[in-house]
Amino acid sequence: MGTRGIQIIEMDVKKLINLLNKALADEWLAYYQYWIGAKVVVGPMKNAAVTELTEHANDELRHAGMLTDRILQLKGTPVLEPKDWYKLTNCGYLPPKDPSILKVLQQNIKGEQCAIDTYQKLLKMTKDKDHITNQMILEILKDEIEHEDDLQNLVEDIKHKPKAGKK
Ligand code: FE
Ligand code: FE
Ligand code: MG
Repeated sequence: MGTRGIQIIEMDVKKLINLLNKALADEWLAYYQYWIGAKVVVGPMKNAAVTELTEHANDELRHAGMLTDRILQLKGTPVLEPKDWYKLTNCGYLPPKDPSILKVLQQNIKGEQCAIDTYQKLLKMTKDKDHITNQMILEILKDEIEHEDDLQNLVEDIKHKPKAGKK
């Protein structure tokens, strides 16, 4: 990004890059958690779960791309070492050691709830300070909210509970 594009940012750019790298680490771990979850999951409605988990994995990978492009625009260095994902992550990683469908979905719901909290903080932090990052974070937050909703609806379907307030 050009120098003016960085100068207009009204916050500490180094700190911002660090926070974006932490989110990038989260996205890679979320990507793998979904991707491997889709491979190992067993139980009722497995096919619906595989479709959803795979879609979400692709979304997380796309988020990783968005964050990386912004970090590079800010003249930062995106995290280059996968082993650093664990050092930087906000939300961690839950290995699907029990591949039962409800367990896998619960783990991913936990991840999404952490992602929502993380992006909500980033959204507030960048508000009126960096419009471009703010808009990107809003886009990602929308996806994470949809992810949580999709997974919770799937859990309800599996449990055969009546769905309240579903569109
Ligand atoms: Fe994501
Ligand atoms: Fe997500
Ligand atoms: Mg979905």
